[in-house]
Amino acid sequence: MLKICIDPGHGGKDSGAVGNRLLEKDVVLNIAKILKAQLLEKGFNVCMTREDDTFIELKDRCIIANKAKADIFVSIHCNSAENKSAFGFEIYHTRGSIQGQKLCADIKLTINENKEIIRTDRGIKTANFTVLTGTNMPAVLIETAFISNIEDGKILKAKQSEFATAICKGICSYFGIKNTKTVEKSTSATQILSKPTVTVEQMQEWAKSKNNNKEFINLAELYYKLSVERGINPAVSYAQFAHETGFLYKVKSAAGLDESYHNPCGLKVPQGGGDYDKNAHMKFRTWHEGISAHLEHLALYAGAKGYPRENTLDPRHFPYLLGTAKTVEELSGKWAPSQSYGDKLKVYIEEMESIKVMENTQEPSNWAKDSWEKATELKLIDGTRPKDNITRQEVASIAVRLYELLKTK
Ligand SMILES: [Zn+2]
Repeated sequence: MLKICIDPGHGGKDSGAVGNRLLEKDVVLNIAKILKAQLLEKGFNVCMTREDDTFIELKDRCIIANKAKADIFVSIHCNSAENKSAFGFEIYHTRGSIQGQKLCADIKLTINENKEIIRTDRGIKTANFTVLTGTNMPAVLIETAFISNIEDGKILKAKQSEFATAICKGICSYFGIKNTKTVEKSTSATQILSKPTVTVEQMQEWAKSKNNNKEFINLAELYYKLSVERGINPAVSYAQFAHETGFLYKVKSAAGLDESYHNPCGLKVPQGGGDYDKNAHMKFRTWHEGISAHLEHLALYAGAKGYPRENTLDPRHFPYLLGTAKTVEELSGKWAPSQSYGDKLKVYIEEMESIKVMENTQEPSNWAKDSWEKATELKLIDGTRPKDNITRQEVASIAVRLYELLKTK
């Protein structure tokens, strides 16, 4: 079960910021308590760094979250400034934490949905706050509003449960849990786990139209095979491969990766690291391994049966990712921070699906039909695979058959 650690800022002798007859420590504790009740109702496990008006050291808050093995850490605060006219909402994560950034983005989005609590969105920021750097899980710190501002102060006083609701919604969306109040997603969403919607030939023709690189085109076959084995629509995974590698480095990789990394989707090493750091990225021995890792990471997102796996080549096989994106659309903001990530993949998938492969490999072409039938009839060939390449040993067999045939005449 997913566990959320809620950290109401300050407490006890430390009242936090003060303004408009409000104490930060009281406001954030109230929000935290309401949030706890809402999360429990959604089926989450919850741990709190404090449940009452006690003072807890910052490093002890980290210890509480780490000991509890929480999946995420959410610290709640009120902002304050000398300049009483400053107002609005902002949210923090540590620099380089991709999951922290994703969690920020999800909470920011749901806060923005309620205009009663947000007067202005000051955005996502990075900082080295102790509670963010000392915790082992994705962690965020929310500055709900300015206690020092009159209008914000009114909101902090009257809208505490609205803040809790918005944060709860953001957490649900981070974990891909549908909010009962949200409208059902349209049925046109592209499922990641599904029967193939393309053939290998369509994938190859599409690849040729994008980058006539032999390695890129040839990998379509391996992608098809390994995807189908895991129940993944190969159109989705191959589109991702193309997007993540810039059509196998037709565009130079920003992180400095190349074919020798056999890393088809920018998979990071287990401990993670910067997007532009070569050494933060996995180097697989073969494409078979790299593609398997990609597909196992994707199957985890899609919530495939038997996942998370015990044995996997996926270096970042985190259980909390399970089922967080069942459709291509839901990968946006989760697999990658970009909100248009899924849409980009959909364009590629639709291009692949619309490719008409004229070539029927089971039948000889019209111009060769008569010869093919005659040669089959004479038993010079076995009548299968008319469009395959021929090997030297096959040439030898045919030559001998022809020789024997002529000898008997
Ligand atoms: Zn504070």
